[in-house]
Amino acid sequence: MDVDLPRLEDLGDLTGRRVIVRCDLNAPMANGAILDDFRIRSALPTLRYLQGAGAKVTACSHLGRPGGQSNPTLAMAPVGELLRQLIPGVAVLENLRFDPGETANAAEVVDRLVDGQDAYVNDAFAASHRTHASVVGPPTRLPSAAGRLMVKEVEALGSLRGAPRRPFVAILGGAKVRDKLGVVESLLKVVDALLVGGGMCFTFLAAKGISIGSSLVEEDMVEWCAQLLDGGAPIRLPIDLTALGPGGVVGDPSAGGEVRQVGGAIPDGWRGVDIGPGSAVEFCDVIAGAETVLWNGPMGVFEDERFAAGTRTVAEAVAECRGLSVIGGGDSAAAARRFGLDDRIDHVSTGGGATLEFIEKGDLPGLTALRSGYR
Ligand code: ADP
Ligand code: MG
Repeated sequence: MDVDLPRLEDLGDLTGRRVIVRCDLNAPMANGAILDDFRIRSALPTLRYLQGAGAKVTACSHLGRPGGQSNPTLAMAPVGELLRQLIPGVAVLENLRFDPGETANAAEVVDRLVDGQDAYVNDAFAASHRTHASVVGPPTRLPSAAGRLMVKEVEALGSLRGAPRRPFVAILGGAKVRDKLGVVESLLKVVDALLVGGGMCFTFLAAKGISIGSSLVEEDMVEWCAQLLDGGAPIRLPIDLTALGPGGVVGDPSAGGEVRQVGGAIPDGWRGVDIGPGSAVEFCDVIAGAETVLWNGPMGVFEDERFAAGTRTVAEAVAECRGLSVIGGGDSAAAARRFGLDDRIDHVSTGGGATLEFIEKGDLPGLTALRSGYR
């Protein structure tokens, strides 16, 4: 796909120029420690290019959801420290979302970001579905370009929207069912098969009249799922599930609670927490024949080893598939890395919501801003 965005090269001679780069350095953190540095490493190509071109580089990002106020547990310091180790000489601003004006797209925030700068680069693909100050503001004020990661994401994900090689198989799971409905509709227009597992499958199973016990469900969306299924949408649902019995606690095997494979109905009080082995095999067969695969959302609560099998099996099939493989979604990408499979995936997107919105709409506010911005 032709990426219709201004590139780093379009910024011209950068010797001695000041460039502010909106990165997405929003790494998962716990007690000030970085749990996964994928997004931080993904920001390096752009920062290296700019430094190599002689620019003075300032990176900025949000971290978590501090809600517009300072919060020491979400300070940028640990991330900034790692970034400076990886690429010395880059200045790093404090968490943008400590200021309520960032998410409110306040002019004062934009003023402050562009002050003293000669150019702006947006490399924060994962934040570009937001009309936040640092995403949409600077392109109206400075010569601007898309960074390397941004271009890579738009090319890889754009190819799924353009003319994907067939069969095109999408796999959806995870817990954010409501957020993923839009993408279900747009994927159904382009895929040959949509495999649904994870927390998403129960709303569809309920729509088929199957008992789902106490599994995750969006009651008010059951009817919508029923319409899709009745309309003949090429949706495949699990034929068996791994369920956790009453009293069981996800993440704590010592709490007890029986774990059982169930085909069909889930008993009252039980929760579906992974796709079953039969479903995993069926899904793998479909994935093996694909020329294009998109995977978003784990097949089960993979963080608990008892319920990781479905996600691991599907992740292996995605890695082994000879067609183009793309993973979107923070948790799915984390699962692929945990299973040591990420190197065998063609494109692991840094985005979650942004990835889905781009696949759904083919554009994002941050991209529009770059295209229509200051020239
Ligand atoms: P992604 O970040 O890949 O888009 P989501 O954020 O939508 O994925 O969902 C990831 C979460 O979904 C994981 O933490 C996983 O534990 C959870 N999950 C997967 N299957 C189930 C299930 N059957 N019931 C409840 N939660 C689930
Ligand atoms: Mg997630």
